[in-house]
Amino acid sequence: MKSSARHVAPDAMDRWPEERLARFQQRKIQRLLRHVYARLPFYRQRLARAKIHPDKVKTLSDFARIPTFSKQDVLHEIKRQGRFDFGLETIERSAPAVLCMTSGTLGSCFLYLPRKWRALRGDSLLRAYWWAGLRPGMRMLMAAPGWHSLAVQESRLIERLGVSYVVPWGTFLPRNAGNFIDTISDARPDFVSIFLPMLYAILAECRRRGVNPAEVFRSVKSILAVGAPMTPRSRQQLVRELGVGDIFEGLGNPEGLTAMECASHCGHHIFVDCCFVEIIDPKSGAPLPAGQRGNVVITTLIPHGSIFLRYDTEDLGTILPGACACGKSWPRMEVYDRRANELQISGQRIVPYDVRVCLDELPELVNLPFAVVRSETRMERLTLLIQKPASGNLEEIQVRIANLLSKQLNVEATQEWAEELPQRWKGVTVIEEKDWRGARV
Ligand SMILES: [Zn+2]
Repeated sequence: MKSSARHVAPDAMDRWPEERLARFQQRKIQRLLRHVYARLPFYRQRLARAKIHPDKVKTLSDFARIPTFSKQDVLHEIKRQGRFDFGLETIERSAPAVLCMTSGTLGSCFLYLPRKWRALRGDSLLRAYWWAGLRPGMRMLMAAPGWHSLAVQESRLIERLGVSYVVPWGTFLPRNAGNFIDTISDARPDFVSIFLPMLYAILAECRRRGVNPAEVFRSVKSILAVGAPMTPRSRQQLVRELGVGDIFEGLGNPEGLTAMECASHCGHHIFVDCCFVEIIDPKSGAPLPAGQRGNVVITTLIPHGSIFLRYDTEDLGTILPGACACGKSWPRMEVYDRRANELQISGQRIVPYDVRVCLDELPELVNLPFAVVRSETRMERLTLLIQKPASGNLEEIQVRIANLLSKQLNVEATQEWAEELPQRWKGVTVIEEKDWRGARV
């Protein structure tokens, strides 16, 4: 192994003064704009329609005038042109590339990821894994299947860091939790990169097998979890239950977002070397100041492969105000949920994450599955379905839940206990009322 810790350790860019970071990002954005205008028909047409020439974009306010687009627009273009490469990809036919698929509730589209993309995004991701404690010589369990864009980036950082790696059989679906337990027990990794819902599935499988999760995770020093937001209390509870040194939550999407928790665990530092993040007002589209919740719009700063410029991720998030205790200058953000999961209850806008934060204040309910029942009609009350806790007085807990929700979210709540949420609802935090009624008959 040639690489040494000193050779691959991240540089000091994460401590650059704010002004230097702003200048750096502005330069990257301008370069990217000129590139997409010259090379990519999808953007050239959009910019022309909006009457914006890259040379006229001098400030971030100018940049904010460029119309956003969403997955619907991407799917529409794929259908209209009948091809995956519809004009937002820089394709160099002679360079090797990976074609990834992004699936999800909204439909599937494709990412064209050439070697230069893999190098730049992978090198950036190395910093995130370094923050989470991955070091040369360690053994890492990687959970992302080979076709996933995260695996493409992870393979790069694995090479650069010189770590050995283990891949469990099967993808990160809960039904494969048993394979993951067997692999962790046999291969004894130091570091685990995993999807959070899978971590919960592993815990459930440990309970079924009657094994102590801390015994399974005995060799693991730290875990990097992605794929769903974790509240501070649920993180602490997971650290205790698994007996690991720490758990870090990463935020990211294949279209370009990379953000990562530091050891302070107060939001996710945005990786300004590879992406630019805006939070915009869902109605007016105007950028929102730090502390306000709105739509997360991202721009990749890597000018290779599929390029997403002012892409509306359809997530709800906030840029967190103030500086982080860790001393890193990269701004911090939080993502709460998909915009589609936002509920309006008697004038309050709420996502299941807000409810989770309240439930986690009760030690009996930390990490217990729950769901919010959404009605097709106007909702005056919050209706919750919560898995019965193993201990505690249910009536008393119910009163405490109602008090917490009223105090912190300003909503009245109706609540029911379930022995166990049906398998198909695991990890689904918003259930439509008609499905719920159907399931109860
Ligand atoms: Zn920090």
